[in-house]
Amino acid sequence: MSKGKSPSKTQSTPAKVVASTPEITAKLHAAPTLDDLVKKVLSYNAQAEIGIIRRAYEFSESLHRGQKRSSGEPYIHHPVEVAMILAEYQLDTVTIATGLLHDTVEDTATTLEEIESKFGPEVRTLVDGLTKISKISFRTSEEKQAENFRKMVLAMAKDIRVILIKLADRLHNMRTLEHLRPEKQVMVAQETLDIYSPLANRLGLSAVKIELEDLGLRFTKPEVFYRLVQLVSKKLDERAKYTQDVQAMIQDGLAEHGYSGIQVTGRPKHFYSIHKKMESRNLAFDQIHDMHGFRILVNSIEQCYGALGVIHSIWTPIPGRFKDYIAIPKANMYQSLHTTVIGPGGERIEIQIRTHGMHETAEKGIAAHWAYKEGRPTSSTSDKFTWLNRLVEWNNEFKDPTEFLESVKLDLFAEDVYVFTPKGLVKEFPQGSTPLDFAYSVHTDLGNRCIGAKIDGRLVPLKHKLVSGDTIEILTSPNQKPNKDWLKVVKTSRAKNKIRAFIKTEEFEQSKAMGQVMLEREMKRADIKTKTATKDGTLQKIAESFSLKSLDDLYSEIGYGKLSVHKVISKLNFKNSPIQSEGRGPLQQIFDRAAEKTSSAQVVKVKGIDDLLVRFARCCNPVAGEAVIGFITRGRGISVHRTSCPKILNSDSHRRIEIEWDQTKKAAREIKVRIVSEDRPGLLADLSRTIRDNQVNITRAQIGTTKDKRAVCVFGVDVLDLGQLRKIISTLEGVPGVVSVTRVQKKE
Ligand code: MN
Repeated sequence: MSKGKSPSKTQSTPAKVVASTPEITAKLHAAPTLDDLVKKVLSYNAQAEIGIIRRAYEFSESLHRGQKRSSGEPYIHHPVEVAMILAEYQLDTVTIATGLLHDTVEDTATTLEEIESKFGPEVRTLVDGLTKISKISFRTSEEKQAENFRKMVLAMAKDIRVILIKLADRLHNMRTLEHLRPEKQVMVAQETLDIYSPLANRLGLSAVKIELEDLGLRFTKPEVFYRLVQLVSKKLDERAKYTQDVQAMIQDGLAEHGYSGIQVTGRPKHFYSIHKKMESRNLAFDQIHDMHGFRILVNSIEQCYGALGVIHSIWTPIPGRFKDYIAIPKANMYQSLHTTVIGPGGERIEIQIRTHGMHETAEKGIAAHWAYKEGRPTSSTSDKFTWLNRLVEWNNEFKDPTEFLESVKLDLFAEDVYVFTPKGLVKEFPQGSTPLDFAYSVHTDLGNRCIGAKIDGRLVPLKHKLVSGDTIEILTSPNQKPNKDWLKVVKTSRAKNKIRAFIKTEEFEQSKAMGQVMLEREMKRADIKTKTATKDGTLQKIAESFSLKSLDDLYSEIGYGKLSVHKVISKLNFKNSPIQSEGRGPLQQIFDRAAEKTSSAQVVKVKGIDDLLVRFARCCNPVAGEAVIGFITRGRGISVHRTSCPKILNSDSHRRIEIEWDQTKKAAREIKVRIVSEDRPGLLADLSRTIRDNQVNITRAQIGTTKDKRAVCVFGVDVLDLGQLRKIISTLEGVPGVVSVTRVQKKE
């Protein structure tokens, strides 16, 4: 480009840059005005509603007034330039207006509410999307992370126009990057190469992609860039004759077959792609031959295939290099025929064949389909997929439109969420994932101990659904552990597997501890020394006789209820005194008696094992119907606690075991209630009658008085369950003179 020309006008394709001058420096130029913008919009849409553009300009200008860009220009030049780029893509007025307003919420005192009241909900949504994306900071260029960032941008955008505006914004910032500090230049340029040029590529905006890549290279590796600029322009001069010859041969060949009005152009590769090729294949510049490709623009699809036949009749095609993107378009809607042939002098030549319409799509990608079309109103839809549906209507060539739609949807608006770790890494999760999924993705231990999370300083529960852009900080507690309900909360299979594994291990540990308790208790009853039987290998041998590898396995089999403790004891018994090996000897009888004794207390179920010694803990004395948990004691069976009991909360979690009340077996248990009342005659009679009216047996009673002359009665009552206890308490509260009725927690 010659100096003094507007870079935004001459720099839209690198071909022009190379052909004219090696310098791509964005110079200060006369910034486009509102009038320029309006003229531009009217040039492609004579009925455009210019009012919204004028109002957006005035509002933005008043808000940005006094602000300056790094170049020293008034800030408003930037949004106008961005709007001009969008107008080059012939986009709808809402998009142009948003281009003018894109930095207002982020950089000035206005709010989204104000934007909505002035410009409507559609502009608000677009500005909101842009503001959100601008708040994401990209802190790594690691390839996988970069891909996650790109997906995050897409997931947050919701409306494809947000991305188009963001790309226009980035393009103008890159064109004026030289005004920033050198460190900042490298940072922004790297981010552009990592995030934005691939996005432009994905959306099929090849002109934007090419410019972003070349500018990116210029600021990240200036020495490479300027050397390439020199080499390429020299080489293009040298090869001008060859290029002209090839072009002429194609033209003549097509004309011979009756094709007229066909456009044949040569197109040099852009610097960044040459650089990438040299780097990835470890080639020197001179070894790059296919620096020049040719493009044939025809008038119809039939002509595409016809022209291809002509080319292949002139030169031999290289097998495997033919691609039919007309029959099967790329996900970004790109359509063309690609072939590589052996050209004059044995050189490989790349040729693209497409219609003018396909060419527009190739240059502008998705933007081409947002553009104002003659006789069509500009899009004002909030449905983010409408453009895709429209696209499918237009292109009947698609073999399977639904399949195509699905693939593009997946690609553009993945149903995934992207969130940050506190260190700024991005992690990808399926929609509906929770802090537990996040915690397990970091570390198993973090998951196992997770009690919730903090998102932007706000506490959220385990079942909270993650939202793209959130930064997640996991909260843990050493007392926390996974349970079966967690399986309903998590979405990822990793988390599910980890939770299942934990529960399985825990069940094994619990069963092992329980089995050991059961076996040792019975051994004691049978007068078999546990220590000896363990040390001399007797137990190990018995384990092996049941095809179990270890003692732990033996215990756990007993604990799980898969192996009867009777069977083990009878083997031990046989070993100790062979005479008693058959029938029910004294040992069996002892065992039978023990079972009888414990079964009366068997109102709770422990994993379906019914011959366990169960006791109710003195500390909290639970009653049927209350939430309870078991604790496997050493040698004293299972003690039953209320789940809220402080003692159980501080116990070894491996020894805790889930238990439940057996609904079929009810046994009355003694619970004490304390009644404080006025000391009046007949009180005791009233109280005991009230209790008896509940069909409840009074097991004991204790009466005293307090210093302030109140009566304190403690009754022991046999209650069946929590419901009955509550009823007794509430009826007692109704007795005249009664001040309070409370359950005595501690069993004495
Ligand atoms: Mn901006």
